[in-house]
Amino acid sequence: MKALLDSLKKALGDKVRDKITDTLLYRYDAIAQGPAPLAVVLAETARDVATTLELCSAAKMAVVPRGASSGLSGGAVPVGDCIMIATNRMTRLEIDPIKRIARVQPGVITDAISAAAKKHGLYYPPDPASSRQSTIGGNIAENAGGPQCLKKGVTGDYVLELEFVTADGQIQRADRSGIDLAGMIIGSEGTLAFVTDAVLKLEPLPKYTRTAFAVFNELGQAGRAVALITARGLTPAKLELMDQNSIRAVEQFMNMGLPTDAEAILVCDTDGDDADIVNLEIESVAEAFREANAREVRLAASPEEAAQLWKARRSVSPALGNIRPHRFNEDIVVPRSKLEPAMREMQEIAKHYPHFPFAIFGHAGDGNLHPNILFDRTKDSIEEVDHFAHEVARVAIAHGGVLSGEHGIGMMKRGFMTEATPRETLEAWWRIKHAFDPNGIMNPKKVLPELQP
Ligand SMILES: Cc1cc2nc3c(=O)[nH]c(=O)nc-3n(C[C@H](O)[C@H](O)[C@H](O)COP(=O)(O)OP(=O)(O)OC[C@H]3O[C@@H](n4cnc5c(N)ncnc54)[C@H](O)[C@@H]3O)c2cc1C
Repeated sequence: MKALLDSLKKALGDKVRDKITDTLLYRYDAIAQGPAPLAVVLAETARDVATTLELCSAAKMAVVPRGASSGLSGGAVPVGDCIMIATNRMTRLEIDPIKRIARVQPGVITDAISAAAKKHGLYYPPDPASSRQSTIGGNIAENAGGPQCLKKGVTGDYVLELEFVTADGQIQRADRSGIDLAGMIIGSEGTLAFVTDAVLKLEPLPKYTRTAFAVFNELGQAGRAVALITARGLTPAKLELMDQNSIRAVEQFMNMGLPTDAEAILVCDTDGDDADIVNLEIESVAEAFREANAREVRLAASPEEAAQLWKARRSVSPALGNIRPHRFNEDIVVPRSKLEPAMREMQEIAKHYPHFPFAIFGHAGDGNLHPNILFDRTKDSIEEVDHFAHEVARVAIAHGGVLSGEHGIGMMKRGFMTEATPRETLEAWWRIKHAFDPNGIMNPKKVLPELQP
C-alpha cells in the first residue's frame, strides 16, 4: 500500500492527495457513503489517468472514477480500499460549430456544453435534472437521460467518439463504427474503462417551443393521456408527471396555488422550427388531455408563462428534500401502457410503510418513473428502506419493465440484479468485464453481482 502511494506521488506529485482531511470528502455521492479512499488523484490529463491505472493495475488496487458525485446509485462511492481518480481538473471544452460537435474532457459540467454552444445557435440535448452539477464523464458512465430524452435520446446517442484508458493504463480511442467499443463503455458506470475525452454531437436550437399543463382527478386519467398522445403519433419534446404527493410537497414548499386534491399533473412541451407544426402539436396534446378527462388544461401564451408552468415540476426534488433529509430516488421504467397499474401498485405497497413519505414523479412520456422514498438516515432503518425500494422495483419487473432508466445500478441495485436479469446476460456481462479488466480493479463491487457457480 505504502509502496503504491509512494510510486503515485513520485509520478504525479501533489496531484495525489492522501491526507484524511482531503480523502474524507470523497466518500459520498448524492445517495450513499462508504469508507474514505486511500488517496485521490486529481488528474489533469489522460496521461495522469494512465499512469495511475498502470501503477494500480500492477498493485492490483481498486480504482474508482469520480465526476461530480451527483450519482443516485452509489457508483462513485468506495466500497473498500481504493484509489479514486477525480476529474474536476479535466475541464477542457471546445466547440466546432461547422462540424456541430463539442470536444470535452470528462470533468466538464453538463450545462457548460450547451452554454458554450448557444452562441453558435447549437445545444447539447441530454438534460439530466442535475445538469448544473453533473459532469459529462459521469453522464457517459451512467448513459444519463432527462426530460428531453423522450424526443432527443440519451447521452449515448450523442457520443461520436470516446478516448478512454484501460485498466492496465493504455490510452485508446474508439468511434461508433465496427464493434461498438465506445458503446460498451457508455453506461458501464466506470467498471470497464476510464473516459478521458469525448466528441459529442450538437444540434441546432429549436426555434419554437409550446407548453401545455393538465390537472387530473385520477392518476389513471393521466396514464391514459400519455397513451393517447403516443397513439396520435406525437413525440413531444418533454412529457412529465407529478403524482398527488409530489404536488402536495411542491405546494407546501413553494405555495404556488397547485391543486392539492388532484391525483396527477402532466406538463408537456412540443418544439421544432415550424411554428405552425409546433402549435398544431401542442393543440393535439391538449385535445388528448381533454379526451382523458383532464379537469383543467392550460396552454402557455409566452415563454415566461411556460417557465412558470414548468416551475412546479422542477421544484419536486427540492420540495421532497424539505420533507425528510434523505431519499431513495428509484428509477424504474415500465411500458407506457402499464403506467397506471404500476403506479397504483406502488402506492399500495407504500401503505405498508406509512412512516416513509412516498411520491412518484418522472418522465412519463417514456415510462421512466422516479418513485421516491423519504427517510432520515439518523433515525430510520436503512434495511427497511431497502426492502421498500426492492418491492417497488419488483413492480417494474412484473410489468415487463427494467430496473434503471438513467441513474444506473451502482451499488444500490447490484444486489437485485440476479433477480432482475437472466443469468446468461449476467454471464455475458462478466465475460466483457474480464476482457476489459482481467484483475477486476475498475470500480469493483458495482453493477455486476457475484454469481454462484
Ligand atoms: C437532484 C438530482 C437530479 C438528478 N436527475 C437526473 C436525471 O434527470 N437524469 C439522470 O440521468 N440522472 C440524474 N441524476 C443522477 C446523476 O446526476 C447522474 O447519474 C450523473 O450522470 C452523474 O454524474 P456525476 O458527474 O455526478 O458522476 P458521479 O456521481 O461522480 O459518478 C457516477 C458514475 O460514473 C462513473 N464515472 C464518473 N466519471 C467517469 C469517467 N470519467 N470515466 C468512467 N467512469 C466515470 C463513477 O465511477 C460512477 O460509477 C440526478 C441527481 C440528482 C442529485
